[in-house]
Amino acid sequence: MTFGYDNKTIECKICKWEMKEWESNNPQPLLPDMDDRVCRDCNDYVTATRIILRGAEEESARPIYNIIVNIMSMASGLKKSREHWLKQMEEE
Ligand SMILES: [Zn+2]
Repeated sequence: MTFGYDNKTIECKICKWEMKEWESNNPQPLLPDMDDRVCRDCNDYVTATRIILRGAEEESARPIYNIIVNIMSMASGLKKSREHWLKQMEEE
């Protein structure tokens, strides 16, 4: 099976997680740029947003999408620092 993408590593536009380009996903509608890519975890939120805000006008939903992206991005940062802290606790 061939994918349309090569095997290079790219960064998730929302949580900064590194992934292979072929396992990345389309971020719409959360991010408007088709060239941006998101990881599988973030894609679950993209899919949920797509379903919940189905039929929403891009213009009126854009501020909501932006808030969701900001929450996801900040929450993934919090998660990373919590995991880092837990790892340090275990090592002591
Ligand atoms: Zn991500």
